[in-house]
Amino acid sequence: CGIVGIVGTQPVAGRLVDALKRLEYRGYDSAGVATIVDGRLVRRRAEGKLFNLEKRLAEEPLAGTIGIAHTRWATHGAPTEANAHPHFVEGVAVVHNGIIENFSDLKDELTAGGATFTTQTDTEVVAQLVAKYRRDGLGRREAMHAMLRRVTGAYALAVIFQDDPSTIMAARSGPPLAIGHGRGEMFLGSDAIALAPFTNEITYLVDGDWAVIGRDGVFLFDIDGNRVERPRQISSAAAY
Ligand code: GLU
Repeated sequence: CGIVGIVGTQPVAGRLVDALKRLEYRGYDSAGVATIVDGRLVRRRAEGKLFNLEKRLAEEPLAGTIGIAHTRWATHGAPTEANAHPHFVEGVAVVHNGIIENFSDLKDELTAGGATFTTQTDTEVVAQLVAKYRRDGLGRREAMHAMLRRVTGAYALAVIFQDDPSTIMAARSGPPLAIGHGRGEMFLGSDAIALAPFTNEITYLVDGDWAVIGRDGVFLFDIDGNRVERPRQISSAAAY
């Protein structure tokens, strides 16, 4: 029920969990964080409170200067560690808030095409679709766009690719999503409160927007793939 992301120059795992804490008020049943280390996606997930995720991270720390993290309020699939986000499929990592309404049809189609699903969530179709479009030969941005044209329902999404440790992609249709502008680092969050310790310069995605976020800035697109501009605002959310 909460999303955060950082594409930066300093380790991100601890900061991602701190930002998730600022979204705890939304409620959740499990949590997880993924980063990229030496060209590979890695993750830690845990049922229950963020304390459990912190314990996992203390036992097995995660390096990495890009990452996405999630608190889940299960809608499809039990609140288990296996169903906790981020979901990984072939070098694609996804976190999602909301519900993919047509997940069942998409799952049937992808399964018929040879995909093997490893979770009970509606969200996994997002990762499976992007992975399929990559296999079909599309670039990362094209695969993201092609996926967005197939899914219906309510979503805030963040996606990272194992083969690109300097970009987070994000999309919004329903649940809010805010991009935070830093100095050589960029941030993503369900709201400006989550990002307040990092920056107060915020760009809100409008419904239907998707974003390609690098360390130095963001490019925004509409569902047709046209560039759009959204204002950069100064948030008054308090950092502590
Ligand atoms: N529908 C997704 C799931 O059940 C995301 C739920 C959420 O918004 O946290 O995994």
